[in-house]
Amino acid sequence: MTPPPAVPDLPPSRAPGSDGVIPADAGVFALVATTAEVLAHPELDERLLAPWERRRLAGIRVPGRRDDVVAARLLLRLCASRATGLPPDAVAPAQRCPGCGRDGHGRPYLPDHPALGASLSHADGLVAAAVGPGPVGVDVEPLTRRPGPPPVLRRLLPPDAVDAACAAPDPGPALLRLWVRREALFKAGFAAGAEGGPGPGETRLTEWTDHRRAAVVALAYADGLPGRPLSPGPAPPSGR
Ligand SMILES: [Zn+2]
Repeated sequence: MTPPPAVPDLPPSRAPGSDGVIPADAGVFALVATTAEVLAHPELDERLLAPWERRRLAGIRVPGRRDDVVAARLLLRLCASRATGLPPDAVAPAQRCPGCGRDGHGRPYLPDHPALGASLSHADGLVAAAVGPGPVGVDVEPLTRRPGPPPVLRRLLPPDAVDAACAAPDPGPALLRLWVRREALFKAGFAAGAEGGPGPGETRLTEWTDHRRAAVVALAYADGLPGRPLSPGPAPPSGR
């Protein structure tokens, strides 16, 4: 086993001017990296994780998957640090499940920054995270992944889009792009129609291929909603 390369900082996932660039005024901090890059990052260390996160790690038996989960959680801290100006050890993400309402799993959020949305993703040595004003959702998948089969995808994705992708000579890449877009929208709360999620016309969805890391990435974020609260947090001060 060779140690991960020492990486002083994460190379950008997208070339400036390429498709998928997030407008600077959107205020969204999204990072994509390999798990090895994150674990070698000088600002990040597994000791930053909270006790509840480390307890969950103990249940993961596959070492590579454990590393992916650690890296995704650390990358979320780095995004939160970039978004707030605080050091990574001063931002403490939490998770709350929209289904059962319990803490410790489900959608990530920043309890100390209820106006910011947060999202993370990991898959086979790749990780992505995003923090921004309002709902955000990010998904990363290996470029070689082939979601399917099509009958299952037709239940989860727009059937017309699945049929159009399947009509191509090689449907795999198009189906993968549809898949990451759906996942990003779902995590932002758009597809789920979750309370506090963005409504139609308020969602921006961008997707790109990171050839350096052999990854396909999608990012969903709210448009024009600076400071809109979406996460569980203290009620805003109010005279009423
Ligand atoms: Zn739950």
